[in-house]
Amino acid sequence: MAKQEFQTEVSQLLQLIVHSLYSHPEIFLRELISNSSDALDKLRHLSLTDEKFKALVGNGIDAPRIDLELDEANKLLTLSDTGVGMNQEDLISHLGTIARSGTKNFLSHLSGDARKDSNLIGQFGVGFYSVFMVADKVDVYSRKAGEESTWKWTSDGKTGFDLEEVTGEHARSVAGTTIVIHLNEEGAQYANGYRLQEIVKKYSNHIAFPIFLTYDKSEWDAEKKESIKTRTTEQVNAASAMWRRSKSELKDDDYKEMYKSLTGDWDDPLFWFHTRAEGTLEYTTLFYIPSKAPMDLYQQDYKGGVKLYVKRVFIMDDSKDLLPPYLRFVRGIIDSEDLPLNVSREILQQNKVLTSIKTASVKKILSELKTIATNDKEKYAQFIAEYNRPLKEGVYGDYANRDTLLDLVRFKSTKVEGLTSLAEAKERMQPEQKALYYITGGSDSMLRNSPLLEIYKKKGIEVLILDDEIDEIVFSAVPQYGDVEFKAVNKSSTSEDLKDEATPEKTEELKPLLEKIKATLGDAVKDVRASSRLADSPSVIVSDEDEPSARMRRMMEAMGQ
Ligand code: ADP
Ligand code: MG
Repeated sequence: MAKQEFQTEVSQLLQLIVHSLYSHPEIFLRELISNSSDALDKLRHLSLTDEKFKALVGNGIDAPRIDLELDEANKLLTLSDTGVGMNQEDLISHLGTIARSGTKNFLSHLSGDARKDSNLIGQFGVGFYSVFMVADKVDVYSRKAGEESTWKWTSDGKTGFDLEEVTGEHARSVAGTTIVIHLNEEGAQYANGYRLQEIVKKYSNHIAFPIFLTYDKSEWDAEKKESIKTRTTEQVNAASAMWRRSKSELKDDDYKEMYKSLTGDWDDPLFWFHTRAEGTLEYTTLFYIPSKAPMDLYQQDYKGGVKLYVKRVFIMDDSKDLLPPYLRFVRGIIDSEDLPLNVSREILQQNKVLTSIKTASVKKILSELKTIATNDKEKYAQFIAEYNRPLKEGVYGDYANRDTLLDLVRFKSTKVEGLTSLAEAKERMQPEQKALYYITGGSDSMLRNSPLLEIYKKKGIEVLILDDEIDEIVFSAVPQYGDVEFKAVNKSSTSEDLKDEATPEKTEELKPLLEKIKATLGDAVKDVRASSRLADSPSVIVSDEDEPSARMRRMMEAMGQ
């Protein structure tokens, strides 16, 4: 038997998981079931789309199901699925190394707070290893669909694993994976059929496949007047794609449960939008807004987004073609009746059906958000605290929905505490005010103390404080809000609105000084002018109307432009 060592990161991770997630070990079951469900999805998809696998149905590929079998006396819990399975290389690379950088991120994000960290497990997909919270040994038997051999992977979750081919009674007759969990002291509490049922219902009720549990069921024998144990197999979960049920049948708890099993998030979602479209196109969407933005939202390898199903069959869970990038924080499901099952990523990108669903979904999400913004200010503030920035990306990138997005984003301003909408700022405009003014290029306190604001303060005119680095890019792309123009206070022409040109006499009087300053500064400035825009400060630097501002220039340089 070949002993192999875990990749360093795996050992590190195992250490951390076992020690930091101590308070919620039950999630190991959710993680393993979701892996089985993924494996079943993959195989179902293959068997519907690939000739090679079609032939195997009923003949090497079994009916899709997940089985839990409990051996109470020996504290053994076995979880089997008839999914896609793994071969030798898969077992090494999926269970022995951490290929994805997401998992490395997980390590750097661990806080030591068990509740937060168990949440991260789902987010970063280090799910399998959570089994070592409850096991001192784990045997994985797996046979990959379309292949003959069964491989056994064994580990104590400490330093490494053994891998060998097995034959005889341990060889699987059909493709799939069997995981034998040798429960440790901590895990002994799960050698209880009722407890297991409770956990499966809690986390995995809506998994699309049936989950069966075989255990010793206690039943009251009326004749003998005692409780007797009978070996029983029961289906534990509802196994229905809950999103296909009508809204009126569903309770908030159904939605919350679905969200948790879908995302691995521990917290309730902030809100959700469930839509069934019937007509030319038939589809169901269920979108969730997580209560907290994921920490890796701004990273290249962020994995989130929505899952695509076709007639309840899982197709893929890649967000990129399903919703625009700025809505990548939205989680959920799109289930279409009209797409072919064997769609490839390439086809999806130009598929008319998907494009229509995508367009309608974006409109739906944005209009629902707008409704919340109007009707539930408090909820909306919670939302904005997490997602203002991705929405701003949308203002820049989603031209078709720009107007709606401009109504959804919020900014700081000299007139309000907290944040304001553009509509409110427009509402507050002074009669003589010609534009919506903003200031960019520094931190909040730097901007608020800028001498450029003096004249606006004096005239009682509101200025938006844009201290988020994305604001500048947004405003560079958006000339106006409705019929009102945006103007930067640090652009030279803006001052004309405020009639701050110095009188000719004043300019004449200051001429020698201006020339002296110009000579001293030389090429560093384009011009030195007299102005009446300042109330208390002697001078200020502004940029030319058409020139990118200083910070934007730096950002564009960084982007290689
Ligand atoms: P994730 O599910 O986020 O990828 P996990 O640690 O839960 O992370 O699983 C790692 C990988 O191991 C999976 O991506 C999958 O390739 C493989 N795997 C785990 N369990 C199974 C299973 N029951 N059947 C087939 N493959 C599995
Ligand atoms: Mg997993």
